[in-house]
Amino acid sequence: MSPSALSPSALAFRAVGAIAQPLLRDVVTRVSRMVGLPCRALALDDEVRTASVVGRKQWDADRLLAELEMRAEALAVPPIGAPGTVLVGLAAEDMGNAIFTHFFGRARIGGGAVVVSVARLSPTFYGMPDDPDLTARRASLEVLHELAHVAGLRHCTLPNCLMRLAHNVEAIDLRGGAFCAECASRLPRHFLAG
Ligand SMILES: [Zn+2]
Ligand SMILES: [Zn+2]
Repeated sequence: MSPSALSPSALAFRAVGAIAQPLLRDVVTRVSRMVGLPCRALALDDEVRTASVVGRKQWDADRLLAELEMRAEALAVPPIGAPGTVLVGLAAEDMGNAIFTHFFGRARIGGGAVVVSVARLSPTFYGMPDDPDLTARRASLEVLHELAHVAGLRHCTLPNCLMRLAHNVEAIDLRGGAFCAECASRLPRHFLAG
């Protein structure tokens, strides 16, 4: 059976690992301008931990996503939260799995959570000076890409579409911040701002 798409109704953001609060708040603000959904940052003391990829200093992206999806269940149940609430984890740690060397983000069609790692979105990863503004912009667009997966979209082949698969940070910058007309038409109407 193919997984069914979820139409997100609200977004709850949380830090995973050592994410600076100003970065988390910046990403929440940016995403809230891009989507027509209520966005809030969760202030949580609990830590999210998961297994590392064997032989690498990297978190297992699939297990991390599963952990966040489990935590998202409570957020989608009244009175704590609303149905369709998607948990957005912003992770400090680099992520990968046994097959792929890294992931910028991970999500499943119809899943209750998405996770985006800022590790490779920061210019410092590439030996360049820190640029929190650029990191936040990249992270916000990556969140939007992953949320579109939750809503049922797959990757797009058009070069300037946000749903194009990006293997490196240059590709993330090149694809820009907008969905192509075809991808936009397949997203829930309330998903896109304006
Ligand atoms: Zn993708
Ligand atoms: Zn597209």
